[in-house]
Amino acid sequence: MTVAELRPTGTASADLPVIAARGVTKTFGDGRVVALEGADFDVRPGEFISLVGPSGCGKSTLLRIVAGLLGSSAGSLSVHGEKVTGPRHDVAMMFQKPTLLAWRTAIENVLLPTEIAGRVTDKDRRRAMDLLELTGLKDFAFSFPSQLSGGMQQRVALARLLQTGADILLLDEPFGALDEFTREHLNVELMRIVGEVGATTLFVTHNIGEAIFLADRVFVMTPRPGRLAKIVDVPFARPRSPELQLTPDFNQ
Ligand code: ADP
Ligand code: MG
Repeated sequence: MTVAELRPTGTASADLPVIAARGVTKTFGDGRVVALEGADFDVRPGEFISLVGPSGCGKSTLLRIVAGLLGSSAGSLSVHGEKVTGPRHDVAMMFQKPTLLAWRTAIENVLLPTEIAGRVTDKDRRRAMDLLELTGLKDFAFSFPSQLSGGMQQRVALARLLQTGADILLLDEPFGALDEFTREHLNVELMRIVGEVGATTLFVTHNIGEAIFLADRVFVMTPRPGRLAKIVDVPFARPRSPELQLTPDFNQ
């Protein structure tokens, strides 16, 4: 399988924003808790956006709204030009806590989204193995989560995320529970992997250095109420090989 075949199967087009938020607001408790206030932004195809801000500023809330797991209280949010009304096949989210099934091997965990969607074919199995190779876990495909380190488990979770074929990846502090060394290593790997598959990525972190290191642009949120205060272009954009850039014939 080539890198092109591992690319997401979504409907990205080079000029439309992949995600468009207009005044997205979320309150809880009959309006008493403002978790997110008036978020306005566009995300372009293939961009890597870091979303940074202190604990409780609404980062997870924003991601869950983009994922369609949570409805907004006001404003509008669209993905690929369509209003988000619930979970979508082209958006996949990954959380900080490991969510692998303990009784399944790594590859069986990666194949889970395919199983949920329908019957698993040999092609799906090959893709799962290729994704485990991409995340550096080919030799551990038949290991159980308990036999893997925390970092390796999150690599499996990343392979599973890519197995969905979603072209929008929402990563909510995916390596936040890992030690600093492992986290930095995985961040570099993540940059390489999303660059190779050409996914559009929203990456949440409370670490500003990490945010700047990874991203094309950084969205900065203020503590309270959850406000998107600033959008910063990272001057030293990640190097990407030109043939891996997202193009309008992305799906061919
Ligand atoms: P972050 O991910 O930046 O740490 P969150 O999005 O989790 O922040 O939370 C933003 C704010 O919304 C916090 O004050 C949090 O307590 C509140 N909040 C989040 N989810 C709920 C909920 N289901 N019910 C009530 N309050 C919530
Ligand atoms: Mg959070």
